[in-house]
Amino acid sequence: MSTEPYISIVIPVYNESANLETLYQRLTTTLDALGKPYEILLTDDGSRDDSVHILQELHKRRPEQIRVIEFNGNFGQHMAIMAGFERVRGQIIITMDADLQNPPEEIPKLVAAMEAGHDVVNTHRLERQDSWWRLFVSRTHNRIRAWMMPKLKMQDEGCMLRAYSRRIVDLMAATGEATTFIPALALNYASHPTEVGVAHENRFGGESNYSLYGLIRYNFDLVTGFSLFPLQVFTLIGMGVSFFSFLFVLYLGLRRLIVGPEVEGVFTLFAIMFFLIGIVLLGLGIVGEYIGRIYQEVRKRPRFVVKRVLEK
Ligand code: UDP
Ligand code: MG
Repeated sequence: MSTEPYISIVIPVYNESANLETLYQRLTTTLDALGKPYEILLTDDGSRDDSVHILQELHKRRPEQIRVIEFNGNFGQHMAIMAGFERVRGQIIITMDADLQNPPEEIPKLVAAMEAGHDVVNTHRLERQDSWWRLFVSRTHNRIRAWMMPKLKMQDEGCMLRAYSRRIVDLMAATGEATTFIPALALNYASHPTEVGVAHENRFGGESNYSLYGLIRYNFDLVTGFSLFPLQVFTLIGMGVSFFSFLFVLYLGLRRLIVGPEVEGVFTLFAIMFFLIGIVLLGLGIVGEYIGRIYQEVRKRPRFVVKRVLEK
């Protein structure tokens, strides 16, 4: 197929050797049936299993359609998608996971929504198939996020099966941010977004790449990358605490004058102190999260390193 692709599918791959063959089969079946020229960009994010060899083999099967980007190491899911974004040739760009949690059969639905004139198609997972703790973390986070960032209109930030117009993808690729969250970034640029429900399946093979700690870090990227809310909350807490401490000092001062010196209540004071120290440490941590990210950006190290690209 020598015509320019119309649809570009961008997929990050990290230790997905158990899924790639089935992914390939289901994806090509769906896309062939759609009957529009397409390409599939798969980024190997420094997998430690033999994913990269399977990808090389898939490229050999359909060299015109399957393009493989090999990273030099593990730079994370969003960077793997960014590397795909920098190279897409199609007009409608669809991102999805390699583990088949996003069924490829849902792609025509997204294409139809794009063709109806939307520039971003967001999704939420219908009947999500994940462990209870993942659901809990995700629901809690979605709620906190909706409260902190009301402008970010999406129900479910965790679903990666989404569609973007080429214009939006080019804008995202041009940001050059080292830590980012692609669905949120896209909404910043979107002028006519929409949202559809898509099916969700259990991971086909292999294991999730995110631990609870990983998820928390990942969600911090979203919050710090798109909002100053945590910092502002601390300014407010600081103001509140200062105000009440001032009243407290006045009260203690008056007591000193009226009642005279006293030592009772020392332990209460300790409790108050520890509480305040806790708040200060938390605040310091939040400030640190932002500073760390500023540090990452100002160093201007490459956000990912491509070892090799297999394409025609
Ligand atoms: N992934 C990646 N780099 C990473 C971690 C994950 O490219 O460092 C890819 C992974 O191969 C998959 C997608 O990102 O295609 C989502 O990862 P996973 O399924 O492990 O996350 P979960 O569905 O559990 O949130
Ligand atoms: Mg998954």
